[in-house]
Parts: sequence; structure tokens; C-alpha cells
Amino acid sequence: MTDLRANRYRTAWAGDLRAGDVGGDVRVSGWVHRRRDHGGLIFIDLRDRSGLLQLVFHPEDAPEVHAAAHGLRSEDVISAEGPLVPREEENVNPEMPTGEIELNVRAFEKLADAETPPFQVDEEGPIEEVLRLRYRYLDLRRERMRSNIELRHAAVQLTREYLNSAGFLEIETPMLTRSTPEGARDFVVPSRLQPGAFYALPQSPQLFKQLFMVAGFERYYQIVRCFRDEDLRADRQPEFTQLDLEMSFVEEEDVMSVIDGWLKSVLAVAGIEVDLPLERVRYDDAMLQYGTDRPDRRPGMEIHDLGDAFSGSEFKVFADALAGGGVVRGLRAGGEFPRSRLDELTERAKELGAKGLVWATVETGGDWRSPVAKFLSPEERGRAAETLGAVEGDTIFAVADSTEVAARVLGTLRLELAGPREGHDLFWVVDFPMFGWNEEEQRLDPLHHPFTAPVGDLDGDPAEWRSRAYDVVLNGWELGGGSIRIHRSDVQERVFDALGLPPDEARERFGFLLDALRYGAPPHGGIAFGMDRVVALMAGLDNIRDVIPIPKTASGADLLTGAPAPLDAHQLRELGLSVTGR
Ligand code: ASP
Repeated sequence: MTDLRANRYRTAWAGDLRAGDVGGDVRVSGWVHRRRDHGGLIFIDLRDRSGLLQLVFHPEDAPEVHAAAHGLRSEDVISAEGPLVPREEENVNPEMPTGEIELNVRAFEKLADAETPPFQVDEEGPIEEVLRLRYRYLDLRRERMRSNIELRHAAVQLTREYLNSAGFLEIETPMLTRSTPEGARDFVVPSRLQPGAFYALPQSPQLFKQLFMVAGFERYYQIVRCFRDEDLRADRQPEFTQLDLEMSFVEEEDVMSVIDGWLKSVLAVAGIEVDLPLERVRYDDAMLQYGTDRPDRRPGMEIHDLGDAFSGSEFKVFADALAGGGVVRGLRAGGEFPRSRLDELTERAKELGAKGLVWATVETGGDWRSPVAKFLSPEERGRAAETLGAVEGDTIFAVADSTEVAARVLGTLRLELAGPREGHDLFWVVDFPMFGWNEEEQRLDPLHHPFTAPVGDLDGDPAEWRSRAYDVVLNGWELGGGSIRIHRSDVQERVFDALGLPPDEARERFGFLLDALRYGAPPHGGIAFGMDRVVALMAGLDNIRDVIPIPKTASGADLLTGAPAPLDAHQLRELGLSVTGR
């Protein structure tokens, strides 16, 4: 593992010993991983971080030691000493790195007792996650979890090396701060010294890293905890780790090429090869072909616009959608579907907000077996089949609705129809719109954050602006995202205005940024990556909790410590708080 200073506990790492070390006495320390009693002999696999070593207790060599070893139980902590010897031929275990040797114990010391653990540490079988989280320190003793944490360490160190050698400085940003909008709720911390005032934990270091660019640091990075109070989904954590970076005097391609190189080297550690440069996909194309800006392209089954195929159609459903500014879009799903499955898919489409789902199976001579076949002319059917690349025997699906609904419904169905997805699909999405329409609040929302540089006529309609943002997508996950930023205060004010933020409120919340942008801010841009996701990907896991040492559950609870927990009356008083509802 690493050099070791011999002390009363150990002269060597147990898992590092090899046949070449046979000859002298060694002392090792660790946990009783497994114990077997065998024809008078006692065998113990001793575990430390480096791995396992077999200890043998012979009744005749050291009778008292052997007798005492009867009392050892799984997960007891011991230190043991004796000659390291080769195993008998028939006992050699080629599966084990230390499988050719064993330690003949002449003396040992029990350093700590262990109660019976709530689950077996030495087995990889499924264990209820609640139990694993409650006793995380035991869960982390398991080989699989230890190797995930080691992999995380390797990824983080490699990231540091890569960025250090590219001239980046690692700089810290505050945790007790003001709200940095990234589209989630803030976690807040009440101030005792200023009752009634609150800090926000950072959703990201966004504004600070921009100020570092104003300060002239040129290239900043940080592997930093961020906090977002969102309704948790399976792959979300309220606190998570980002690789966050920012660069001055750069354009999109400068940031993207730094990231291309980083992704290549970090993924290589996990044996995932990527070809550079990563493909750049336009936002509009992704939305059309896959119905989402973070598509998983592996199943194919692209969505196509059928507006031309059905222009002038007399079929009312299609004609109405097109006349109302909507779309008709479809995809080829291949093969025939039983009627029950078609009904299921139609129900699913409705659940997703569609008025209905058109299906058709292409038959000989271009006829369609479909409830709507009779409303469509042979030319329309021919054009649609051609656009979708559908041939005899293929089933196609179409949705006539608003652009958003058609994208959502077909985008979701294509993934639900997809078979097993193999390999990795890693690429950039570029050329985003600046804003999206928030139907609920009846206002524009930034697609990224309000510090992203807009492109377009700034005196014109903001809904038309594009942005200088770029995202990295992997297998349908957004792995990272960033942008070239606004570096002029008048442009920043214009964007706040477009978001409906009154100038005095913009000043109150972001005055420090607007000021900084008046003192010579260089053009700059950056990006942030979800490190937990990057490591999960490297480990081949879907679940980011397995690469986070102490994660939270879907309800935001830390089962180990019991956080979050109520405050006592004294603390509440000191903070000037009272709890009104639970
Ligand atoms: N601050 C952004 C985020 O956390 C990333 C960036 O724009 O650099 O998503």
C-alpha cells in the first residue's frame, strides 16, 4: 500500500505480503474478516485496507495462543505476530493476492471487541440499504464500497493533477453565503449574531468563481460541495460534489477542449475509451430527434417531424395540430406490437399529456394497419413512412400536439420501447436558447443560469435569444454544464430585466456582481461537473449513493447521525426562531 513505520501494531500491511517476504517474523493488525476451525487448526483471514492475509493458529506450536484464538469473533480488532511461511501446496489459493503464504501466529493481542454486526461484512450479497446507511462504517468495510471510495480518490487526484498542470489554481469559496440561483431552493442557515438574517448554502460557487476572474486569477477550479433543496429523485443528493472551474479570455471551444481532455483521462482510469473531440450536437436537433436536451442516443429510434408529410392533410387531428402552431412527429419502433401493448402505449402517452397516440403497422403495398389509416391518403402514408424509414412490418407511432408535448411523449416512449442499452454515449449539447417559458409562473426562466452570456438582439424579444451554454451528456444524464458568461454589467442588467427582476431587487441580491462587472471584468467562461456521477460512471454504477461515503436517503435523511433533527428551545431562542408547523 505504502511505506510503513514499524510500530507495536504492525511491521507490514497484511494484504501486501507476498511469497518473497517469507523468512522472517511479521506483525500485522486489522479486523477478523472470517474464521474457520479446521482439524484442530484455527484459520483467520485478517483484513486491513490493503487486503486479506491468512493467519494460522496451530495447537501444538503455541497452545495458549491457540486456545485464546477460540474467543475471536468476526470484526474483532487484533494484532498478530509470527513467522510468515509458504502455504502447503494444496492450500495455495490463486484467487487471493496473498494466497501463497500465511502467518503462523505465535502471539496476538485483541485490541477491540466487536459485537455481532447487523450484516455480514465478508459477503457481497444484497443488504437492505436502510441498514447499510444506518451502519455505514460497517458497510464501508466491505470490499465493494472500499474500492468505490478508492476509485473516487483516484478520480479526484487525477482531476487535480490534470488541472494543476494546465495552470489552474485550486481556490476555496465560502459555504455561508447568499443565494446563488441554480434553479433549486436554498438550504438556509440562521444567523445568531443577526437574528432574523440567514445565510444560504451555495447551490454552486458560480458568482465567486466569476469574481475570481475579475480578480485576475485566470484559471480556477475547486472540487466543492454544493447544496440544492429539491424534491429528491433516485440519482439526486441534497449535498453533492462538483468539479467547478472557470477560465478568463476564453471562448466556448477553449473550455470544451480542456474538458474533452479531462474526460478522456479520467474515464480511461475506468477503461472507458472516448474519441476526441467529443461530438457537438445542437440543442434544436437534440430536442427534435430525441425530445430532450439530454438524450440517450444509444437505442436509435430518432423522432422525425411529419409536418411536411401531412401538410394539407384532411385528417382533422393532424390538420388541427398543424394549423394551431403545433407539430406532428413520429418514430419508427420496428416490428409488430400486440394490440394490448398498443393500448398500453396509448394510455402511457395520455398520462404524459398527449391527447392520443397514433400507431400504424406498415403492410404490403404501403397500406397501414391502423385506426387512422382510412383518414390518410396513400401519398401521405407513403411520405410519412419514407420520412421515418419505415418498411413493411414496421410499427410507427405519431403524436400531433404542441411541440413540447410531442417532444415529451415521443422522447419518453422511445426510451420505454428501447431494448438493453450498451456502451457509452458521451457528447456535447450546444447552442441552447437563453430562456424557456415557465407556464406555471407565466414568465421566462433561464435554461442555465442568469449569468450565461446571451446571443441575439438584446433590444429585441428575449424569448428569441440563444445562449453561449454547453452541456456534456452521457447515456441520457447531464454530466456537466457551463457557459461563457456575461462580463458587462449593462448586459447583466438587461438579462435580469428580461427575467422580470426589478432593478432594485437585482441590486439588492446581486449588487456585488454588478459592481464587480464595472471594474474591468475579462471575458470568461467555465463549467461544472457532478463528480458523484462521474465516479458512479467510472465504477459502472447507476446509484450515486454507492460512491458517496455518507449519503442521504430520498427524504434527505442521514440515517447514521439522524440529521436533520429538531433544535432545542434554547437554540431556537438564541437564533430568534420559532417553529410554527411540522
Ligand atoms: N454553476 C453552474 C452549475 O452549477 C455550472 C457553470 O455554469 O459553471 O450548474
